[in-house]
Amino acid sequence: MRIDKLLANMGYGTRKEVKGLLKSGHVRINGEPEKSPKTHVDPKEDLVTVMGDEVEYREYIYLMMNKPGDLISATEDPHETTVIDILQPEDIVFEPFPVGRLDKDTEGLLLITNDGQLNHRLTSPKKDVGKTYFARIEGKVTESDVEKFAAGVTLDDGYHTKPGELVILSSDEFSEIELTITEGKFHQVKRMFEAVGKKVVYLQRIKMGELVLDEELELGEYRELTDEELEYLM
Ligand code: URA
Repeated sequence: MRIDKLLANMGYGTRKEVKGLLKSGHVRINGEPEKSPKTHVDPKEDLVTVMGDEVEYREYIYLMMNKPGDLISATEDPHETTVIDILQPEDIVFEPFPVGRLDKDTEGLLLITNDGQLNHRLTSPKKDVGKTYFARIEGKVTESDVEKFAAGVTLDDGYHTKPGELVILSSDEFSEIELTITEGKFHQVKRMFEAVGKKVVYLQRIKMGELVLDEELELGEYRELTDEELEYLM
């Protein structure tokens, strides 16, 4: 990896600022001063120092965001603001992406990382990772819906879903529920309720595998995962 990229990734400034740092002679690779931004280093083998301090390299970043209902879960978009657009520059340098997709109007737990393997483990349909949603539904959700979801429901395109675990929190003119599913078909939760003649009016993801949305995070806020949270996912 190029030395300027490594230093930028580790928060030493933009690529341009890092170039200045190198030029000023403050950067050493294995004890030797290095001025060229193009020089390649092996972050695991080479000792890089800036003004005598060792640069601790890390390859991956893992962020938990409480996604607000006005951002799209993509890395870039010509018209809309994405969940990546609101990250701090020091996080964007890792080139992270959202793990799985939430609809624009869906709020809640979104994992953002540059770890492709973790992304695969969490989103592959073969892995059966549970995703739990809180939803407000127009209409009365009943035990019959619980049974239907447990058997899987047939969506508008004919696809029969895997079983979903539906828990009724309250049931009235508007109902509140929690639903755990292991798949991630397009608009899946909304379409599962449509399949039983009901409409989702609010949707929030609260859990992915063992990872639970941190309630301290306001909408649009994010933080790094703790070591314990990372362990759940690995
Ligand atoms: N199901 C949906 O319908 N929308 C989401 O954003 C996630 C799951």
